[in-house]
Amino acid sequence: MEVLAAAKTVRCQTLTSFLNWAQHKLIQAEVASPRLDAEVLMAVTLNITRTELITYPARVLSQVEEENFCSKVERRVLREPVCHITGVQEFWSLKFSVNEKVLTPRPETEILVEQCLKALAKNSSPLKILDLGTGSGILAITLAKEIPQSQVTAIEKSVLEVAKNNALRHAVADRIRFMSADMMKADWQGLYHLIVSNPPYLESEELSECMPEVRQYEPVLALDGGRDGLDYYRFIIPRALAQLEEGGLLAFEIGHTQAATVVTLMESCLDYHDIQVVQDYCGYDRVVLARKRTLNG
Ligand code: GLN
Repeated sequence: MEVLAAAKTVRCQTLTSFLNWAQHKLIQAEVASPRLDAEVLMAVTLNITRTELITYPARVLSQVEEENFCSKVERRVLREPVCHITGVQEFWSLKFSVNEKVLTPRPETEILVEQCLKALAKNSSPLKILDLGTGSGILAITLAKEIPQSQVTAIEKSVLEVAKNNALRHAVADRIRFMSADMMKADWQGLYHLIVSNPPYLESEELSECMPEVRQYEPVLALDGGRDGLDYYRFIIPRALAQLEEGGLLAFEIGHTQAATVVTLMESCLDYHDIQVVQDYCGYDRVVLARKRTLNG
């Protein structure tokens, strides 16, 4: 193992010296958060928390720990995402299993959960929710957890094991119906109070410009929204009207340049109203919500 050999030649023995060495390797590999990543990988190797690392700066690593840590660093040097190396990503303060077959949960998707909860606050339970393109299951699962009486349907055409395991892990599997199907072809089965989706929304040509972590390790299927990135919105917006309860909510994550077009697509359906665009914490347009009109307007 080339990286391990290099680590040994610089006589890295203590936890601190290994961390400094890893940070240096990750800076050379142009990783965005080298120290943080080194610490996360060390904490996972030693099965302790990141804060506990400072308690043992002079701890000497065993041979097995050394090899384990160096192989993780080696993977990160090749720009494999930290969450694929650890197998876990936090979202909404919950831990989710992830792998290369599902989109990595991103912090900005929490805005979508927040906005759905805010918009549904006045509805009385039980609520029926549809999550289109569930991936690791973060939307279906956090909404099921936050809205105790809810019944969620989660559609995904790629793998469902990851989402199913996450639902078990968070004790909501009994309230989520998983459907292995292409949302563009399947029957969505029922009427819903909320239809939510973080669909693939990158322009096909943008994919090659993404960071190596995304380009090389995340599933194209979860990212590619067609030539202009809008294929899924064009399909879901008119179709959702037939599957929403009166007054029901449609909520999307969007790419930050897509708000105007998505709003226009909704406006052109006439049966949507109360259309809102919400920004993420970086100030980018990130979520669009609309309600289906009730019979009396
Ligand atoms: N936000 C993701 C990215 O920019 C894209 C997620 C998606 O297509 N739903 O990499």
